[in-house]
Amino acid sequence: MKTFVYIDHFKGQVQPASWEALGLAKSFGSATAVLFGTGLDPLVKAAFEFGADEALIADDPALTDYRAEPFASTLSALASSGTPDLILLPTTTRTREMAAMAAVDLNTGVLVDLTGLSLEGNQLIATRPIYEGKLNEKIVCSGKPVIATLRGRAFPRPAQDESRSGTATKVEAKTESPTTVEGYEVAEAAVSVSDAGVVVSGGRGASNNPSLTPPAGMDEKDAEIWRAQEGFKLIGELASVLGGAVGASRAAVDAGYIPYAHQVGQTGKVVAPDLYIACGISGAIQHIVGIRSAKLVVAINKDAEAPIFKVSRYGVVGDLFVCVPALTAAFKKKLGK
Ligand code: FAD
Repeated sequence: MKTFVYIDHFKGQVQPASWEALGLAKSFGSATAVLFGTGLDPLVKAAFEFGADEALIADDPALTDYRAEPFASTLSALASSGTPDLILLPTTTRTREMAAMAAVDLNTGVLVDLTGLSLEGNQLIATRPIYEGKLNEKIVCSGKPVIATLRGRAFPRPAQDESRSGTATKVEAKTESPTTVEGYEVAEAAVSVSDAGVVVSGGRGASNNPSLTPPAGMDEKDAEIWRAQEGFKLIGELASVLGGAVGASRAAVDAGYIPYAHQVGQTGKVVAPDLYIACGISGAIQHIVGIRSAKLVVAINKDAEAPIFKVSRYGVVGDLFVCVPALTAAFKKKLGK
């Protein structure tokens, strides 16, 4: 099977699921990495190291900034001439858009946010979670090429082999576009809960430490946020020792404890870490749908009846202000940090 793998990146920072897509492509046959932008040499090198047999590179200043129209047109032109059986992309906001537009150009369909893809005979059978992760749907695409976006961390990442290389070919970019990017504005601190191998999250319980005395003169709401920030400091220290990211429940975000970029759940990010530690989070269904793909869930909660314990492999009934620093100290010792 001949597969194109689109290597999605923002200013040279590759979406790690692109490498996972290369690994999947190789399990089916040949893998051609497809890269758009400028200054792509380091990315092309990495694509070979992660398993690409060849690379098609549209290196053009017009593709420096992502815009749906030229990216989709360039991809569909490459697919028309290269006739792959399958085009894989990591699932991102960008790729959902460009995959859909390329599918219209190619008169085929898109299978989005897959957690499984297998080849049975000549038929690709895809799996994707639906109904907030309660069901896994099996789907096939009768069009050709099959276009599919893969959920981050749902597929194994291939080992990087620095001795590998391949053939790189420059291709023409389709640059026509009615839109231009005027600039970027950083909305919030960069958070990568979706890609993190470890996520330590805090909920409303992160503010519940009456023994902490806020600075004099603070009103009740500010005192609650101040306490929560102390709680999230502890959560951040645990995440940092484990090389992970900080997540949060919606209650914590809505109460102003932490920015939205950290929110995990139905209206936040879906995460799939190896380890998810929920601190002071009750375990509402809207939170649980965001962590269903986590490999190991640990909960710390004062309430032994909290629903989060039902989805946790390990649970600690206790105060997060006591348990989290104790865990941080234990991991520091264990990891020699
Ligand atoms: P709570 O439910 O108030 O739980 C706090 C927990 O902390 C309790 O279990 C308590 O026992 C424990 N606790 C208190 N003090 C301590 C302490 N010192 N140490 C240890 N434990 C302590 N929620 C999300 O998280 N993500 C979403 O994306 C999301 N989307 C939603 C979409 C919709 C349409 C709706 C209606 C709701 C959504 N929600 C979402 C909200 C969700 O229903 C819950 O309200 C929310 O998850 C509760 O957050 P929480 O667990 O932090 O707070």
